[in-house]
Amino acid sequence: MTGPIQCINCGAVLLEKDIFCGECGAPRPSETSPAEVIEEPQADPVPEPRPVRRPDSDTIWRVAAAVLGIVGVLVCLLGLAVFLLFGLIEAEDMTPAENWLISTICCLLPIAGTGVAMAVAGLVIWWAKLRNR
Ligand SMILES: [Zn+2]
Repeated sequence: MTGPIQCINCGAVLLEKDIFCGECGAPRPSETSPAEVIEEPQADPVPEPRPVRRPDSDTIWRVAAAVLGIVGVLVCLLGLAVFLLFGLIEAEDMTPAENWLISTICCLLPIAGTGVAMAVAGLVIWWAKLRNR
């Protein structure tokens, strides 16, 4: 054996008698096959160093935003569908314009408004919680 043996972990020079690295405690490389890396659990994927933010909380907010957005759009479509299906309220003593107005206020506005509100809430959650990732 020639030359100093270096720790494969931290690069510190190991003494002949050292079984473990004095610097970091890693086992010394095998002398019979120096190229062989000591059996570290390399198969285990090291978890990505994450920011302080909690992933669980993120997931909850993301799901909440997605659900609110999707349900909001669906409710919007539902309001439109109800409006188209049931048509105009035909009151005898009102002009067509007034019928349109009343129908819109009574039918389209509450349902679609709720949908829009939910979609906006989803957007706000996304904006406030998930924008700066
Ligand atoms: Zn070392």
